[in-house]
Amino acid sequence: MHQFLLATRNSHKTREFAEILGEAFDIRDLADAPELPVIEETGLTFEANAILKAVETSKHSQGLVVADDSGLEVDALNGAPGIYSARYAGEDATDAENVAKLLAALNSAPGPRSARFCCVLALVREGTVLGTFHGLVEGTITSAPRGNSGFGYDPVFQPEGFDQTFAELDPAEKNRISHRARAIQALRRALLDRAKEKPD
Ligand code: IMP
Repeated sequence: MHQFLLATRNSHKTREFAEILGEAFDIRDLADAPELPVIEETGLTFEANAILKAVETSKHSQGLVVADDSGLEVDALNGAPGIYSARYAGEDATDAENVAKLLAALNSAPGPRSARFCCVLALVREGTVLGTFHGLVEGTITSAPRGNSGFGYDPVFQPEGFDQTFAELDPAEKNRISHRARAIQALRRALLDRAKEKPD
């Protein structure tokens, strides 16, 4: 059994990792550790924020720690909202407010609507970064929201090769092609290789 601590209090995220990684992985998260401080995401890249969260969490935990950071990059907005995706329309912005701000910004910046979701995972043990794993999914921003599943910018993101937005796709299909799924698969391969070389 491969074990690690996922540096999140979001149980949906933990479930997504568990579904993609399968039964050979035992994942704990921070739901049982309310005493650990909330970590400010002060990095300037997805990778820096993932490393920051994993390293800080690993100071309080033995064993392997994984943290993630993700967001949406829109080319016509020079990569915005990027690392600010969750708080694009303000500190406590709702998904609908973030989406409305994105569509308004794109309407006043006409041009290609190409975009990508990015996810970076950091794998750390006792403060040492063992690896980072990247996942991307390319697509376009639609002119209006479509679909009801998912979260965040899903209703306005149409992945390349599909006619539906992420919010219209079957969630299992999204989880097969998403930026997070791709990064998690890369992490999975690294953990399995590591276990072969260095059984704990
Ligand atoms: P975090 O990595 O959980 O901090 O997520 C950052 C933000 O990026 C989220 O709050 C969403 O706004 C956006 N985001 C990340 N992944 C997705 C996704 O799969 N669908 C829609 N929005 C996403």
